[in-house]
Amino acid sequence: LLPRHNDLPWQLLRKFNNQLAMAEANLTLLEGTHTSIPKLRSGHVGGQFWAAYVPCDTQNKDAVRRTLEQIDVIHRMCLMYPQDFTCVSSSAGVREAWQAGRVASLIGIEGGHSIDSSLGALRMFYRLGVRYMTLTHSCNTPWADNWLVDTEQEQAVHNGLSVFGKRVVLEMNRLGMIVDLAHVSVKTMTDVLEISKAPVIFSHSSAYALCPHRRNVPDDVLRVVGQKRGLVMVNFYNDYVSCNQNANLSQVADHLDYVKKLSGYQAVGFGGDYDGVPRVPQGLEDVSKYPELVAELLRRNWNETEVRAALAENLLRVFKEVEDVSEMPPAEIPITFEELGGECRTRYGYPGSASVPGLLPATLAVPLLRALLQ
Ligand SMILES: [Zn+2]
Repeated sequence: LLPRHNDLPWQLLRKFNNQLAMAEANLTLLEGTHTSIPKLRSGHVGGQFWAAYVPCDTQNKDAVRRTLEQIDVIHRMCLMYPQDFTCVSSSAGVREAWQAGRVASLIGIEGGHSIDSSLGALRMFYRLGVRYMTLTHSCNTPWADNWLVDTEQEQAVHNGLSVFGKRVVLEMNRLGMIVDLAHVSVKTMTDVLEISKAPVIFSHSSAYALCPHRRNVPDDVLRVVGQKRGLVMVNFYNDYVSCNQNANLSQVADHLDYVKKLSGYQAVGFGGDYDGVPRVPQGLEDVSKYPELVAELLRRNWNETEVRAALAENLLRVFKEVEDVSEMPPAEIPITFEELGGECRTRYGYPGSASVPGLLPATLAVPLLRALLQ
C-alpha cells in the first residue's frame, strides 16, 4: 500500500520545531496526529510520500531554507527509525524497501514557492531526493497560477503557466521529478497536460463533479489525465469529499469509483492528506484505516487488479515512466529579474548588477588591455 501525500513532517515542525530527539516526538508513541509508526504498521502502509511542505507566507522570504529543513527532518526520520523507514528516491528503491518490510519513504515538495523561481534550486532539491513537486500551493508563484484564481479570491496573473513556468515543467521532466497538479488552477492543469513529456499526478485531489470545490478535478481534465496515463489520488479532506464538514468512508469510495469511471482504473490512487487537514471522514480517522477503504472497494466489485493498481501499482508505473523521460540538456535560462517577487534581492548575474573586472564588455576591455600593454 503506497498512499501519496502525508504531512507528518509539517506536524513535526509545528509541534517540536523538528527536534526528533524530544521525548514527546517519539514516532512510536506519538499521539494527537493521524500518523505514527504503529498506525502506519496497522494500516499496512508500505510506502509514503512525505510532504516537505512550507506555507505560502514563506514565499520570497525563507521558503528555500525552510524547505531544506523539512527535507532534512524526513532524512532524519529515516536515520532515527531504520527498522521502520527507508528513504528511497527511485521506483526500484520503493519496491526494495517494501520487500524488506520498511516504509519506503519518498519526498515531495508542496508548492513551487519552495524553489524561489530557481532552476538551480529545483535541481539541487532533486539531488536531495525530492521526487515530486506540486507546482503551487494556495498562492500564485511568479510563474504559475493556483486554484484560488478559479474562485476569484485571487487574480489570475499568468493565465496558467508563464514561459518560465513551462521551463520548470520541462526541467522536471528532464530530471525525472513527478509534476503534481493538486492546488493549481484549471488553466495551469491544462497547460501542463499539454506540454509535459511524462505522466502527471494529482497527489491529493478529488472529483469536482461529486463535490464542486475548486481544489477538485473537473471532468474534462479527468478524461485527459486518463488519456495521458496520469493519476488522480483522491483527497480525504471532508471539505473536498462532501463539500461539507462531515464525510464518511463511503463518500471517499464514491470519488474513487468516479475517477475510475472517467479516467480508467489505471488513473486512480489514494491521496490521503493525513496530518495536513483538520477533518477526515468517519471510518478513515487515521492512516491505520486504509484497509477499511480497500474492503469497501472490494464490496463495490473492484477486482484484484484494480485494487492493486489503486493501492500502489499506478503510482509506481507513473514514477517509472517519469524516470524514463530524460534526454534533454539542462535548462539554463533564468526567470527575468522583473518577474521575481520580493524586495530584498541581489541582482547577481542579471544586467545592472555591480560589474567586476572580468565582466567588462569586450568593447571596453580590449582598448584597456592595449593601453596597459603599451
Ligand atoms: Zn495540500
